[in-house]
Amino acid sequence: MSANRKLSLKGMPREVLVELLKAIGKERYRADQVVRWLYRHRVAEIGRMTNLSKACREHLESLACIPRLVCLKEQAAGDGTRKFLFQLEDGETVETVLIPEKDRLTLCLSTQVGCRMGCKFCLTGQSGFTRQLTAGEIVDQVICVVDRIAPQQAARGPVNNIVLMGMGEPLDNLDEVVTALEILMYNDGLQFSSRRITLSTCGLAPMLAELGRRVEVSLAISLNATTNELRSRLMPVNRRYDLETLLAACRRFPLGGRRRITFEYILFAGLNDSLEDARRLVRLLGNIPSKINLIPFNEHPDLPEFKKPSPERIEAFLNFLLERNLTVMTRRSKGAEIRAACGQLRSAAASSGKKAPLPAGRNS
Ligand code: SF4
Repeated sequence: MSANRKLSLKGMPREVLVELLKAIGKERYRADQVVRWLYRHRVAEIGRMTNLSKACREHLESLACIPRLVCLKEQAAGDGTRKFLFQLEDGETVETVLIPEKDRLTLCLSTQVGCRMGCKFCLTGQSGFTRQLTAGEIVDQVICVVDRIAPQQAARGPVNNIVLMGMGEPLDNLDEVVTALEILMYNDGLQFSSRRITLSTCGLAPMLAELGRRVEVSLAISLNATTNELRSRLMPVNRRYDLETLLAACRRFPLGGRRRITFEYILFAGLNDSLEDARRLVRLLGNIPSKINLIPFNEHPDLPEFKKPSPERIEAFLNFLLERNLTVMTRRSKGAEIRAACGQLRSAAASSGKKAPLPAGRNS
C-alpha cells in the first residue's frame, strides 16, 4: 500500500493483480496487459495503459497507483561505475550501483533500509535496521536505472546481470525478495534470466532451503573467515549458524544446471590473509561445487581497524588457491572515488544534511 493508501501495482504478484482486476469485472488476460505496461513499457501512469478501456483505467486509478523512486543523487566513476541514491515514499533512502564489466552490465540492488546482521566490516551493518523494502521498491531500482541509462544502452548493451548484494540481508526479507525476483524474470516483463541473478547472503542457513524451494537463482555466500572464532568476531550471524551449519546448508542447496556457489572472501590484512587461512579455505570448500571471489578490503576512514592486504599478500593467497585448482576471481574495488562500497553515498548524503541519517556500507 502506498502513502496515498492506494495499492501499488508495481511489485504486485501477477496472481494478486488477476484478483484485483477480477474484482472490477475484468478478465484474466487484462493482468498480462498490465504486467507488460508496468515492466516492458515501464509506464508511470495507469492512464497510459491504452489497451485498457477508459472506464477500466479510471476504475483502476481509483484503487491503485504506480509509485516511483526519486533519484536524489547520481555519481559516476572513471571506470564507468555509477551509483544512485534513491528516495522511498517515506523519505528513507537506498543505494543501487551499476557496474560495467567486460561482458556484462551488473546492477547491485538493496533489499532493506539498513541491516540487522551487524557485520563489523560493513557500515550498513554498523548503522542498524530501519525497515524492509517492498517487492515494488526492489524492482523499481531496476526500472529507474534501466530508464535512466536507456539512451546509452545502444553502446553498452542493456543491464543483464542482477546481484542482491547492496544494503540489507536478502534472506531476512525473503517474501518480498522472492516476489521481486519472480517479477524481474517475467517473460513479458523485464526478462532477466535466473542464471543472471545472484543472491548474496551472510549465512542465514535455515533460509537457504526455503530460498531453494521457492525460486531458482545463483547463490553467493559472504564467507570471509575460515574459523568460527574469527567469523563470529567479524559476522555475528556466525554465532547462530556456524561454519559447519552454513556449509551443510550449502551442500543441500539445489544447484540447477552447471551452477556453482560463489563464496565471497574479503581479504583483511593480518586477519584472514595468511596461507594457513587459504589452506583452511580449500579444506572447507572441498566438496562443494564452488568458485571463490577474493575481494581485497576497500578501506574506509570509519572502519580504521580493517586494512587492505599488500599486493604481495593478495597474490600469494590467490596463487595458493589457483595451484589447488580452485576457480578464483579477484575483484578490484570499482568506483572507489565515488564511494562505491554500498552505503557510502548514503552516508555522504547524511553528512551533507539530506535525510539519510545512517552511515552505511557493505564492502562491495
Ligand atoms: S555485509 Fe550484508 S549482511 Fe552484513 S551487515 Fe552488511 S549489508 Fe548486512
